[in-house]
Amino acid sequence: MAMKTMPKKLERLPELANNLWWSWNPEARAVWRMLDYPLWRTTVHNPVKMLHEIDDEMLKTKAADPAFVRHLNKVMLNYDHVMGNSDSWFVTNHKELTNKTIGYFSFEFGMHVSLPIYSGGLGILSGDHIKEAGDIGLPFVGVGFMYPQGYFRQRIPSHGWQESHYEHLDMEKSPVELVRDEEGNILQISVDIGDQTVNAQVWHIKVGRAKLYLMDTDVDSNAPWNRELSARLYGGDTETRIRQEIMLGIGGVRLLRKLGITPEIYHMNEGHSAFLVLELVREIVAKTGCSFHEAALQVRPKSIFTTHTPVPAGHDAFGFNLMDKYFGQYWEQLGLDRTGFMNLGAHEESWGEAFNMTVLALKMSGAANGVSQLHAEVSRDMWQSVWPEKEVDDIPIIGVTNGIHVPTWTALPFENLLNKYFGPDWVDRHDDQAMWERINDIPDQEIWDIHIDLRDKLFDEIRSRTRKRWVAGHRDATQVLTTGAFLSNRALTIGFARRFATYKRATLIFRDPDRLKRILMNPHRPVQIIFAGKAHPADDPGKHLIQTIYNIAKSHDWGGRIAFLEDYDMHMGRYLKQGSDIWLNTPRRPREASGTSGMKAALNGVPNMSILDGWWVEGYNGANGWAIGEGIDYDDPDEQDAADAESMYQLLEQEIVPLYYDRDRDGVPRGWVQLMKESIRSNGAKFSMRRMVKEYTEQLYIPAMKS
Ligand SMILES: *Cc1c(COP(=O)(O)O)cnc(C)c1O
Repeated sequence: MAMKTMPKKLERLPELANNLWWSWNPEARAVWRMLDYPLWRTTVHNPVKMLHEIDDEMLKTKAADPAFVRHLNKVMLNYDHVMGNSDSWFVTNHKELTNKTIGYFSFEFGMHVSLPIYSGGLGILSGDHIKEAGDIGLPFVGVGFMYPQGYFRQRIPSHGWQESHYEHLDMEKSPVELVRDEEGNILQISVDIGDQTVNAQVWHIKVGRAKLYLMDTDVDSNAPWNRELSARLYGGDTETRIRQEIMLGIGGVRLLRKLGITPEIYHMNEGHSAFLVLELVREIVAKTGCSFHEAALQVRPKSIFTTHTPVPAGHDAFGFNLMDKYFGQYWEQLGLDRTGFMNLGAHEESWGEAFNMTVLALKMSGAANGVSQLHAEVSRDMWQSVWPEKEVDDIPIIGVTNGIHVPTWTALPFENLLNKYFGPDWVDRHDDQAMWERINDIPDQEIWDIHIDLRDKLFDEIRSRTRKRWVAGHRDATQVLTTGAFLSNRALTIGFARRFATYKRATLIFRDPDRLKRILMNPHRPVQIIFAGKAHPADDPGKHLIQTIYNIAKSHDWGGRIAFLEDYDMHMGRYLKQGSDIWLNTPRRPREASGTSGMKAALNGVPNMSILDGWWVEGYNGANGWAIGEGIDYDDPDEQDAADAESMYQLLEQEIVPLYYDRDRDGVPRGWVQLMKESIRSNGAKFSMRRMVKEYTEQLYIPAMKS
């Protein structure tokens, strides 16, 4: 079914729907709500789908509605101004560099719920990065994969063991467009992977001013095995993985060439794309006949690498046998022999020596960074072997702490509130700390009212999901209970949602069940906890944690005060991070490289209660939330768990619960609202994606552009 033909006055609606910019511009979002609110809801905020499914009568009515047409025209005027990029930060401050493109490579991009091609933090970070890069006017091109089946959808049957299923993305009804060549044929790139040639078509996604190109190997000319290569995100075994990474790194460079794009800088977001440096070397060697060493001297200054985890298993490494299979024909094109080639990535893994993508990226980059200051410190230690001649403090891995895209993650009522108190241009100034200092101008009552409203929205969403599943016949009564039907809109609500990796210790709060029960089931001051998150399909220990919590949620002993919401994604994440009262994070320090969900909560006045790990080491100031534990590293994990759990119980019993229930005559918890305000004031600018992308620009991109 094709998109509907638009009446003249609405003819630019498809253009607006096809640039994700609408998703972080409040007035553009309002266009879709005003156009057809029920359809906006049923399509789960997918305007392209709306324009396929909308009634012709409705289009006629809206075209004849002057208020709607006026609003749309105003939005499009703003859109044209933004796309003109005449006064952005980068253009204003670095005009002479605006012709130098940055190529940003990532395995996943999480931009909107309608494009489920992300699994968690890494993808959301890439999505936020590309949005902000465009917002501040950087010449920025993203490269990644289109996964026609995306990341898995999670379902939890009554035994609690996570099941995964995949859904085909309907490209027709997504904001994506196939790239065509000048003759109008579908553009294809090809890469030799082992002894086969793999072809890919390319999808273009408009992300504000930035461009994103996603490769898709599901084309007729490929053998079935190769068609599957980019079918799913993180769906395969090690061999699939190396083939995907060859496609991303080497195919990605070829894709840019085919599009006539020559980046000045290549930013590898995580090691998945690190093969791209080999392709850059190969190009130079082929063209000039120079040695590997000489070519590498040209490639390094343009290459930037960001590492994202201190967990060793999070760094891809491939056995030399696989490397032989896939690079046996390639290394001589680089002017290397086998030993020289393998040395680029050689690293001792827990299972023996292998080719490690992080080592390759570090050796071939001019600059590298970790994603928080603590993570950078841990990374310098972790990767010292790459620079055996250097002291640990001199290892060239700097810290650029992550951030979040503020326009994406600010709840609508807060957006309106900040418009009122900070001025309607507040979004343009959101990395200016001085602006956030004015938070105390806002009356407590207004902040609290908004919070109550967002909390009610969370519970409405929970109940409506539960109802839908019940109606669809997928649920028995215990499952209705576990998905939160018994939660109260008024009890102190702790939110915990993230990937279920074991180091995140989702079950830590249950270490002393009796003590926790006393906290939760206090009749006068009840507390409840909402969990959500997916375990990686191959991570059985992670699935086990989900099952443990699921069984607790089911049990009568816990009085319906624990819920586990299925199928965590960006959409549900918004509700949870905006509607919980506290955001809980309990990683095993120092394994949480940064964490970003806590930043999203903090921005919406939901204070964090977190281990001093990742971003919270920098975020916590003593008055904007709570620190679990002392911020020290332990040798004995059990000792660490015991100390952290004890700290958490004490905080809840002595500080958090009493403060939350201490209400004024007007029902407002003054002390709590003070904390909410401090959370917003101290985090809004500091953990914004704008601050982060400007840091990348000034510390990494510009020096590389000028080198
Ligand atoms: C922000 C976000 C994450 C990242 O959360 P962490 O704090 O890094 O665990 C994961 N998933 C979704 C859907 C998010 O929005």
